[in-house]
Amino acid sequence: MKNPPNYPQLEDNAPLLLGPGPSNVPPRVLQAMAAPMMGHLDPIFLDVMDRIQHLLRYTFQTENSLTIPVSGTGSAAMETALSNMIEPGDPVLVCISGFFGERMEEMCRRYRAEVEIIRRPMGEVFTIEEIEQALKSRPAKVVAIVHGETSTGALQPLEGMADLVHAHGGLLVVDAVATLGGNPVLVDEWDLDVCYSGSQKCLSCPPGLGPITLGPRAEKTLAERETSVANWYFDMSGMQKYWGKERTYHHTAPISSNLALYEGLRIVAEEGLEARWARHQASAEMLWEGLQGLDMTMVVPEAYRMTTVTTVRVPEGVDEAAVRGRLREEYNIAIAGGLGDMKGKVWRIGLMGHSARKRNVRRLIGALDKILHG
Ligand SMILES: *Cc1c(COP(=O)(O)O)cnc(C)c1O
Repeated sequence: MKNPPNYPQLEDNAPLLLGPGPSNVPPRVLQAMAAPMMGHLDPIFLDVMDRIQHLLRYTFQTENSLTIPVSGTGSAAMETALSNMIEPGDPVLVCISGFFGERMEEMCRRYRAEVEIIRRPMGEVFTIEEIEQALKSRPAKVVAIVHGETSTGALQPLEGMADLVHAHGGLLVVDAVATLGGNPVLVDEWDLDVCYSGSQKCLSCPPGLGPITLGPRAEKTLAERETSVANWYFDMSGMQKYWGKERTYHHTAPISSNLALYEGLRIVAEEGLEARWARHQASAEMLWEGLQGLDMTMVVPEAYRMTTVTTVRVPEGVDEAAVRGRLREEYNIAIAGGLGDMKGKVWRIGLMGHSARKRNVRRLIGALDKILHG
């Protein structure tokens, strides 16, 4: 083996992150990451774990005792939610209106569920009636749905959905990766059975942790499983022993990531959820106005548009990748292109967590104006 080249240390170029995650991380959270290492059973860390659980319950608006950050990104939390609720042969209904719904379906199949799917075109949302119809023709033990579909910018209304699913004997599993900490996610009020998220979106922490909460029905389902969870790492009954009273080693918690999450959640609590939701709303409205002022149109009608991720149509004749390249090169601003069917046709602009500020919107609109209209 030859010696590797003498690679340079990375420059600090601090891009403004206005894509669908990760979002910019506040300095306090970055500093928390730099704290000296401690053991995963250190008394100070055990206290931090308790506080994280408390702060997560606030953030999810729930009293659920089983509320912890899974070690891994949002997809790891998705994997946890589905693998813990599904046993081979279980009937599962997956509601798909974009890329992350597809990911849920793929996971359900790997856990050998009997998967049925219903679809809405990208950018649209489901009505309660559509789900009711599907459950009438075939009941499901688990109904899986995405709250904020990051690939399309559509916000799925959830009020009343759990009642319907429960009436048909099922559990409702909700992906709130792109909404928790940005849009209201009211786990207890909406009676969600399982809800999960990711640290790097509206919570503005580094990627690497996936907060999840399990309600009483989900805990019961987990306790009454006939087969063990198909993976070892994400088995909540193992994680529960480490995060709960027993404090038994399960796996080494990613210490620095958890210290960062602690600080990030402290910031959420300091600001207050309602003020945080209002900040996301106000900056999103300013973005929509600014984009309309540049003669662009949003993909999703305002009635069910996410405030945390906006999809906007690329104007006729414009090379979307070139514009994104110039935004990154000349203005140090990062946004994203479309996924799946929307590739090449839309930009996805995230205003998540720390990034959701009017001054950032002004910077982006100004830069887009210069690039598009010289
Ligand atoms: C980002 C995202 C995920 C996946 O999270 P990762 O942290 O990338 O693993 C899942 N669902 C939604 C809605 C997302 O926005």
